[in-house]
Order: sequence, then C-alpha cells, then structure tokens
Amino acid sequence: MTEHADRRTPREGGLERLLALRDEIKRRIDYRSFFLRYCPNPAKQSGARFHALCPLPSHAHTGKGSPSLSVDTSRGLFHCFSRDEGGDAFRFYELMHDVPFAQAVREMARDLGITTSRRRTSLASRAAPDAAAETCESEEPLAPQRVEAVCEKFLAACRREDQTEGTSYLARRGIDARTARLARVTYFPRRAYRRVMRKMLDAFSTDDLQRSGLFNSRAHLTFYRHRLLFPFLVEGRAVYLQARTTAAGVEPRWHNMRGSVPALYNADALAGLPTGATVYLVEGFTDTLTLLAHGFAAVGLVGAGGLKEDWLAPLARFRTVAALDPDAAGERAATRYEEVFAARGMRLARVQLPSDVNDFFRHHPAAAVELSLMTEAALERARVD
Ligand SMILES: [Zn+2]
Repeated sequence: MTEHADRRTPREGGLERLLALRDEIKRRIDYRSFFLRYCPNPAKQSGARFHALCPLPSHAHTGKGSPSLSVDTSRGLFHCFSRDEGGDAFRFYELMHDVPFAQAVREMARDLGITTSRRRTSLASRAAPDAAAETCESEEPLAPQRVEAVCEKFLAACRREDQTEGTSYLARRGIDARTARLARVTYFPRRAYRRVMRKMLDAFSTDDLQRSGLFNSRAHLTFYRHRLLFPFLVEGRAVYLQARTTAAGVEPRWHNMRGSVPALYNADALAGLPTGATVYLVEGFTDTLTLLAHGFAAVGLVGAGGLKEDWLAPLARFRTVAALDPDAAGERAATRYEEVFAARGMRLARVQLPSDVNDFFRHHPAAAVELSLMTEAALERARVD
C-alpha cells in the first residue's frame, strides 16, 4: 500500500487551480516560520534577513563551513551563495523535499490547512464537518504544549470507544492488536462523534480546539472522515496526529492537525534500542507497523521525500536500512538519502523489495527471514563501499 502524497500533474483546469492555490499560500504563509523550520538556528539576523547553514540536501554541504544560505523573510526568497542557487519558498520546498512544483504547492497548502481537494465542493461535502476549507489557519497556531494536551485528550476520548473497526482494518493488513496498541493507534467511531466532541469541549476552549486544527471554524471535529488516528509520540506523549480514512473512495485519504509532521513516525521508540541495532527507514505508517509487528525496528516517512535533516542525528548510533517503495519516488529518495547520510559521516544501507513492505509481508510466508538475509547483504555492501 503506498501512502505518499498525491503526485498527479496538473491537467486542464488543474493548472489554474494550482496557481490559485499558490496565490492563496502566498497570502497566508509566514515566510519567517516557514524558513526557520528548515533552518532552526540562523547564524545572523538583521531585520527581515537572516543567514543560516544551507539545509538543501542536493547541495550536500558539510555543515562545517560558514552559513551560505541567505533568506529574505519579507519577500520569501532564498539564495545559497555557495552553490549559487536561489528562488522563492516554493522552489525551496521543491529542493528540500525533492518534489515537483505541483506537489510542493499541494503539500505547502496542506501544511497551512488550505484545502487541496480537486473535487468541486458538493453540497454534501460542504455540510460535512471536516470540509478542509474551514480550518482556522488564519489564526495563530496553538503552543506545542497545548497541542499535545489536545492530542492526548482526543486519543483518550476515542480510546474509550469501540475500537473494533480500527483493529480489524489493521488486522487485514497483518498488523496485530498489540503492535497497534504500543503505537497507540486509535480509532474514532463515527457513532461516538457527539460524545467525543462533548469531552473535548469540556476540556478545552473552542478557540484552542480550532487553533490546534482539531475543530473547524464551525466548531466541529475535523477528523470526521479520517478516523484511524496515528499519533507521533515524543517521550511517550502524542504531539501530532495524522489520520487516514478506512473507507474506499475518500480523497484526500489523510487528514492531520495543523502544522507540519514533527518527526519520523515511531522515532520515539529509538531511545529504547541498543546502539548498533538495525533500524529500517520505510514509507508510511502501515509499513512501519508491519515491521514492528514482525519484531523489526522501524521508523516511517510521511511520503518518500519527507526526510528532514534534523531527524538524522538520533539515527547515528544505529545501522539504518532504507526499505522504500520500489517506485520512482522511492528510488530517488533513497539515492538522495544515501548522500545525505554520507554527508554526515553516516551510512545508509538499502534493501530493494519487490513491493512495499506491507505487501511483501502479506504475500511472502518467509518474508521475515528473506528480509533479514537481504539486510545482512545490504549492510555488508554498505561496509565495503
Ligand atoms: Zn546550499
């Protein structure tokens, strides 16, 4: 099962929509926080400008030189003096995540909570509580601690409800209940909607709930069609939620809290692993949980190109093995990550499965043994290279 972002290219009428979306992003984006997310420690700032170590993966900077990236936060422009490459925030996103323009626009829109639905809005979907256009992205985002409290409360409220539908959805994909419980995957049954909403309103102000992205501007829960909840945990606490639909035909298939993906999925589990352990880098929640269910350690990317360099440090003490999807996006990403790891003096081994991890395990009775053998060979190659 692939879970990376929509890579459709714009067709007729699509380009117009895409440019409209781009303009909407330009109206709403805060360039300063956009760039600071990738350059958390700017070297020197003066007015609307700052300099920072250039994080662009394709530039493969050593990280030891002087800050070569200049950012103009009033106009949203960047320039890397060392590689003489620059442009606007969209170009920056393209380079940072190795995605085409159309995907950059869609993902940036999603991060800002702007709808990217290509369907004409029907009356029915306008009436639905999680119509994406209604999130309150114009307001200040909520402080991380409050977002965490909202996530935790929401998970706890859902957890008290019947989990059968979520559990069986995962079971059909070979993910057992214990693995799901450890990862705190939680199901929000539709019939519990009012009860869960009431609990959230008892615990938080509507304003907080809206600013977290859990509620829309009409004070309805936004996780309405997307009810299988995957928390991103930091020290055991949920700091961010992404949810997928378990029904066919619902687009987009994912919904999330406001803000960006904060970490590799399941990165919290790394702390408990011994140094030198093998950790797989895979795409998506399902592949991550599939490996966990079979006794492997794994962390997941949201989309093949979604790795951020500041997530690498915790991987340094492990033997990391990429098992990305065997498609063009997976190939491209794995090749790039090899370089990114190498630039930090780290090694990334790669295994190439005939399908994504979940399919592989579902269709090969000896998948665990085969993967172990392939991994040994890949680690051997990575040592020799
Ligand atoms: Zn650069």
